[in-house]
Amino acid sequence: MAAPDFYLSDRQRALQQALRDFVAREITPLAAASDATEHFPVELFPRLGALGYLGLRFPEEYGGAGGSNLDYALLCEELAYGSGGIALGIYVHMALACSALLAFGSDALKQEWLVPALRGDKIGAWGFAEAGAGSDAASIATRAVMSGDGYVLNGTKLFITNAPIADFLVVVASTAPDQGLKGLSLFLVPRDTPGFRVGATLSKLGVRASEMAELVFEDCRVPREYLLGREHRGFLDALRTLTLGRIASAAFATGIARAALDATVEHARTRVQFGQPIGSFQAVRFGIVDMAMQIEAARLLCHRAAMAADRNLPHGREASMAKLFATEACTRITERALHYHGATGFMADSPVQRWYRDCKVFEFGEGSSELQREMIAREIGL
Ligand SMILES: Cc1cc2nc3c(=O)[nH]c(=O)nc-3n(C[C@H](O)[C@H](O)[C@H](O)COP(=O)(O)OP(=O)(O)OC[C@H]3O[C@@H](n4cnc5c(N)ncnc54)[C@H](O)[C@@H]3O)c2cc1C
Repeated sequence: MAAPDFYLSDRQRALQQALRDFVAREITPLAAASDATEHFPVELFPRLGALGYLGLRFPEEYGGAGGSNLDYALLCEELAYGSGGIALGIYVHMALACSALLAFGSDALKQEWLVPALRGDKIGAWGFAEAGAGSDAASIATRAVMSGDGYVLNGTKLFITNAPIADFLVVVASTAPDQGLKGLSLFLVPRDTPGFRVGATLSKLGVRASEMAELVFEDCRVPREYLLGREHRGFLDALRTLTLGRIASAAFATGIARAALDATVEHARTRVQFGQPIGSFQAVRFGIVDMAMQIEAARLLCHRAAMAADRNLPHGREASMAKLFATEACTRITERALHYHGATGFMADSPVQRWYRDCKVFEFGEGSSELQREMIAREIGL
């Protein structure tokens, strides 16, 4: 019998249970088909909005539930338990596009875009990466030039989740090209803006339930009010404000790993070889125990970072450690899950091979393992 997470309040335990029920009913059954067809089930957005999950961490004045970062970690773990790809599509909308609007949008923009986005009536995307800019944000080549009462954007974004289904984009563009990171600004770009188009769609190894494409800006004019936050400083401010990406990544990895563990325990109890369940062989038992232990550790690191953020305590090191440990553990755990399932797990209709493919992106998205190790090294005085 597992000890309950004693630091969760009764409300949070009820939230966790409600999320588990929702995911079992409405996400897990879609996971295999969405992966196979590379199609995000957009009808989930208004469902998630109506239940208050999209706005879980947002202020009530914009239709949110005013929840905590720990609530949010619970949400991310459960979404990913159902489907890593679906979780990613929801995350980009909620935690990147909507969070940027909340942090930097004017009240008018919040009413026009954030409120319907939290209801799930509008879908957002986050346009940062480019062919020449991944880990190195200072290399962003998309330009935004002030002209008259607005800005004109030119450039191409690559690997953008939700691009094929998004109603609006939050785009990182350079307004002072010689200033590197200190010249990057954020812009809201509605999908129907002249000069913007969705480019080639991209097919992926994992998280295939999320849809991905390029964003192309050709003399795309946006009004001055669509600048989000400070000119030249918007991206650096966003890095400081949108710190939850690492906590979310840790929670996603925990959720995928837990799905893989549950299936592996069940398989080890029912798969009989040499006249006994394979879970009775010590080599297998011990391997599965290590999977379970790493998941507990990942969740604790993740929740500690979230609780520190909730108390406005420093949590950069905690968030980096949680992200680094949980995502690398998830890769090991899904590999072991596949190993213990043998050929059954290797088949295309098995969720085990999907978890194995889905987890890798969380190791290099939201700041790769190497970047997390560099950040932690600085934090511990190296
Ligand atoms: C499924 C998926 C969804 C995505 N969704 C989005 C999205 O919605 N919006 C968006 O803007 N982008 C998105 N991206 C892109 C994502 O932002 C990039 O993958 C990420 O920024 C890393 O950049 P990169 O892939 O170009 O890798 P690179 O930066 O080229 O890194 C390659 C390798 O080099 C290592 N490396 C780089 N620099 C250093 C260093 N200084 N020290 C040590 N090692 C280093 C990295 O750790 C990594 O292992 C997505 C990517 C994927 C795969």
